[in-house]
Amino acid sequence: MSTDVHTQRGKWSEPHVPHRGWSCVGVDDLEEPSQVCEMCESVDIRYVHYMEHPDYPETLAVGCVCAEHMEEDYARPRAREKDLRRLAARRKTWRGRKWRISHAGNSYLNSEGFNLTVYRGSEGYRIAVSRRGTAQRQAGRKWYPSEEEAKAAALGALIWAKTHL
Ligand SMILES: [Zn+2]
Repeated sequence: MSTDVHTQRGKWSEPHVPHRGWSCVGVDDLEEPSQVCEMCESVDIRYVHYMEHPDYPETLAVGCVCAEHMEEDYARPRAREKDLRRLAARRKTWRGRKWRISHAGNSYLNSEGFNLTVYRGSEGYRIAVSRRGTAQRQAGRKWYPSEEEAKAAALGALIWAKTHL
């Protein structure tokens, strides 16, 4: 039994809840501490690690420290959280980027060798991304209700394009 005070609270003290052998099935950034860790039930978390266990019926949304103990891995949960922090910082910078207007009247942005375009369609706005200087282009299927939302989501398209285009 760990002497860490963190692992004696909440579900850590419930005998039917497994203490180890959990795996992370996803992560999320809530943008501010806004949810209580479902394992220790004592800290507010911003970066959520979704944990599953073969002997437990529910997915638990937990913080980094609990994820480390549940996985018995003290490197991976921290690495996941670091990625989320990096992405959050990136999103913040992204919001300040200046978009330009193309001859066709669409907003576009060139970044890291890619061209991102936001264009209007029947159900709102869509994103297209191309690798500059090539014919490789991908148009997103998702519709965004506003141009601003499409521009914010274009960061995801850029990250996708870097490994797919
Ligand atoms: Zn916790």
